[in-house]
Amino acid sequence: MANINVLSSKVYNRISAGEVIERPASVVKELVENSIDANASNITVSILSGGISSINVSDDGDGIEKNQLKLALLPHATSKISCVDDLYNVSSLGFRGEALPSIASVSKLTIVSKPKNQQFGAKIYSEGGVSGVAEDTASSDGTSITVDNLFFNTPAREKFLKTARSEESEIIVTVARFILGNPDISFKLYSDGKQVLSSYGDGLESAFICVYGVSAVKECYYIDTEKNGIVIKGYLAKPEYAKGNRSYQTVFLNGRFIQNQTVSSAISNAYSSYLMKRRYPFYVLSLELPSDVVDCNVHPNKLDVRFQNNQVVYGAIYSVVSKVLDGSAQALDIVVGNKEKPIENNVDYVTHNESVLEKETFKFDKLVFNDVKPEQDVLNKEEKSDTDIFAENKRYIESLELNKKETEKQEPKPVQTAIKLEIDLKVVGQALNTYLILEDGLDLYLIDQHAAHERILFDKFNEQIKNQDILTQPLLIPYILTLNYLEYGFIEEKKDLFNQLGIEIEQFGQNTFKVNSVPVCIADLNLKNFFDDVVSDLFSLKSVTLNEVLRDKIAVKACKSAIKSGDKLNDKEIDLLISMLKSNLGLKCPHGRPIAVKISRTEIDKWFKRIV
Ligand code: ADP
Ligand code: MG
Repeated sequence: MANINVLSSKVYNRISAGEVIERPASVVKELVENSIDANASNITVSILSGGISSINVSDDGDGIEKNQLKLALLPHATSKISCVDDLYNVSSLGFRGEALPSIASVSKLTIVSKPKNQQFGAKIYSEGGVSGVAEDTASSDGTSITVDNLFFNTPAREKFLKTARSEESEIIVTVARFILGNPDISFKLYSDGKQVLSSYGDGLESAFICVYGVSAVKECYYIDTEKNGIVIKGYLAKPEYAKGNRSYQTVFLNGRFIQNQTVSSAISNAYSSYLMKRRYPFYVLSLELPSDVVDCNVHPNKLDVRFQNNQVVYGAIYSVVSKVLDGSAQALDIVVGNKEKPIENNVDYVTHNESVLEKETFKFDKLVFNDVKPEQDVLNKEEKSDTDIFAENKRYIESLELNKKETEKQEPKPVQTAIKLEIDLKVVGQALNTYLILEDGLDLYLIDQHAAHERILFDKFNEQIKNQDILTQPLLIPYILTLNYLEYGFIEEKKDLFNQLGIEIEQFGQNTFKVNSVPVCIADLNLKNFFDDVVSDLFSLKSVTLNEVLRDKIAVKACKSAIKSGDKLNDKEIDLLISMLKSNLGLKCPHGRPIAVKISRTEIDKWFKRIV
């Protein structure tokens, strides 16, 4: 029989380090959270080689007493909670007392700290979890923690580290989140000595600009409202400003960054009718709820939370976001400083009864959820106005489900792909300004001319790339592209590739490029949309085949932006298309949609009951 061993704290800490500390960005997250918990107003993060060789987080917070330094490095040692009851009312970011010991066990860690009331600071050093004694040292007020050689004693974990560049991006994303979630704290991030991010701690707008750039503010509604006892604040981008992936979605709950299904589906469902497929809303939302109706202790990285009542949260968020996007009169109460009103509407409507009802907020703290069946309990106990909230939420969810089913029903059935063309095709005409009708004497073909056009351009462009003979056309007025740091870094790295593809770009001031020329075949490319799409895919493009993917993307996007809906194919293009269709059975557009659909004579005859 195997012996059961009680693990020593050294072993135990390394195991828990594996759970909390995955990579340099997790160290940054834990250290910055500690600085925030210590009431810092200025936090500086400096990293070397993507944090792999060194991470320093310095703050001007409360500091740690000399005689507590060793304790801070012990597992389950925390100053933030002291008894089980505290667990139900956590307002600090940390509370488990495991971050410092976990980080210390897999690195060489130094803490220098000085509480304001002390004359001297103190310093402690720990290597692989073994710490020395605290000694006096000169220090400014606050705490500075340095983590060197992360994972030096855990080679298995070290192997999983990515390149310094991608660890750096992860840290930038982490710090950017802190900036957005703590707009009253000033953050600085330096990477290999270069300043990457800098916020001023003077409010959300400034924080938002620091991360996403000035132009993004103009594309967003700033909202500040309360619904069902939940304070909802932040930026919701207009649907036209949606992104190609979910990395532009940030939610904070009581100051903590969270990823929660209830919240994110409430927001995306509210946006869904405004967005095309595979477009994702862009938002930064901050929610405030009484901490006793949220459980933060459900996820090892504290990324997810559990609400005592999902429906109340869902309903509140869904209704607020929908109102803003629908541009109903009530949006006027939600959107702040709406220089540009979300709607052309008569303001009188705000005084209408309905809006008065809307203002009647449902206080969360009325809910006493000690029971296993919270919803039922509340439904029985509460007054009618409160039960209405539940009914309202139920109705939302039901109508959403219904909508979803309806749209699913309307989705076109998959069409056949392989089309054999042996005889000559004759153009019959054009229908609905969208489809070309062809026949070959036997069967009928419907051709999506938009998709076909894209395919023709795509092939033409790829051919030019292959032969390295892209004709470019200088832009009369160069296009100025202003990006955030991450996006800038991405494009900068790929500059040569863009140039090879005929999109000539050069640096033009901080985080800005100038686009000088574009390929002739896509001369009327909408550069704003194009770069928007390319950079919004930045986080998903981390593979080794990046160049390939990017080349295709550029070709696809280029073609897509070059075509406006309703564009007709000219005769030459129709001929070209027909010859392409003949040689390539089952031709698809660059996005994989079919270009042609065959309707057989038999099928048509059946419609008219010529045959059965
Ligand atoms: P937790 O944050 O869960 O309490 P940690 O291991 O992250 O656990 O930190 C342990 C303790 O060290 C904290 O409770 C706090 O008292 C102290 N501490 C850590 N970082 C700082 C800091 N930057 N400023 C002041 N105190 C700190
Ligand atoms: Mg902590």
